[in-house]
Amino acid sequence: MKFGGTSVADTDRILHVAKLVKKKFDENNKVIVIVSAMAGVTNDLVQKSKKISENFPADEYDALLSSGEQVTSTLLSAALQDLGIKSRSWLGWQIPIVTDGDHKNSRIVSVNSKILNDCLDQNIIPVIPGFQGLSQENRITTIGRGGSDASAVAVAKCVDADFCEIYTDVDGVFTTNPDIESKAKKIDKISYEEMLEMASLGAKVMQSSSVQTAMINDVEIYVKSTFTNNPGTQILSEDKISYENVITGVAYSKDDAKITLQGVKDKPGVASKIFKPLFDNNIVVDMIVQNISADNKKTDVTFTIKRDDLKKTKSLMEVLKSELEYDSILADDQVSKVSIVGAGMITHPGVAYKMFNALSSKNINIQVISTSEIKISVLVDEKNTKEAVQVIHQVFELDK
Ligand code: ASP
Ligand code: MG
Repeated sequence: MKFGGTSVADTDRILHVAKLVKKKFDENNKVIVIVSAMAGVTNDLVQKSKKISENFPADEYDALLSSGEQVTSTLLSAALQDLGIKSRSWLGWQIPIVTDGDHKNSRIVSVNSKILNDCLDQNIIPVIPGFQGLSQENRITTIGRGGSDASAVAVAKCVDADFCEIYTDVDGVFTTNPDIESKAKKIDKISYEEMLEMASLGAKVMQSSSVQTAMINDVEIYVKSTFTNNPGTQILSEDKISYENVITGVAYSKDDAKITLQGVKDKPGVASKIFKPLFDNNIVVDMIVQNISADNKKTDVTFTIKRDDLKKTKSLMEVLKSELEYDSILADDQVSKVSIVGAGMITHPGVAYKMFNALSSKNINIQVISTSEIKISVLVDEKNTKEAVQVIHQVFELDK
């Protein structure tokens, strides 16, 4: 059972969480608990570090940030003991949860199961702070913001848990953001692949890398609310889901920007010249469109990058102007990417048509299209985002 920051936001909530854990334990489960820091605490620690120094050492930063989870793990363990349950907190280094890579963004490489299994054998509930680990150099590390999900999946994997429950402040994963479409429905079952697409496209219920780890290790996940009794959303492998709906969800993101090079020569080597400086500068490219030229001489190339990278990308392209001899460059950050996700589309024809027709019924222009086996994304004017999501949601009957 993993509890996120809002679930342990204050002592009353921690007392409530203790009751949920006790209930699960009383139902004859062996339980390990992973906790986040109280909501806001990690951000607060980041602010404090900035006030001390602009160049706060990364190793001290990790030791600082990891402290939030230490607090909640001890409070919850004590609350459980008060309910008559044997429990103790274990810090990441005591287990140990071993990590690799840079400070602030380490990766869990192993979790020693010995202590955890011993606890389970003796009916002791271990409460483990998420987000923290120990480097091979014996230093405290953290594994990236929102990393407690990854801690939970890693622990579930190491003890070969039957499932990993992620408790949060929403009822589960929704067909789209309920804030922009009130008819959004909770999804009962979603595959790892679909969840990864939804997460990377802006549905931020779980940290993406933790879903990836769960997928690789076949750890079954339930996302559910700490504050209601709803069954939540199950994340599992595709072959365990029978798809009634053509698509599973509609996602959108407003983090993208679009660049178009007009009048690029249509000859070998041009695309590679355009994208090399982006690679050299660590800029991730998402959608790419290049048309066939009508006269075999010139064509347009459009691609999208993260909005934060727009300025840099534009200046890198301007440097190429004399070499590539393109006519002009257009940059636009008022765009949003709207996507439909669903393994059901693999076997259903006409999905793209249905999506494009829905957009056309609202007179929404599609700027760029990209697809994968389980996803179709379109780039639209940012001001059309809400209307696009709503009409697509309705046309695919996701509210039913
Ligand atoms: N407390 C950490 C953060 O806010 C880790 C987590 O909550 O998952 O990023
Ligand atoms: Mg969190």
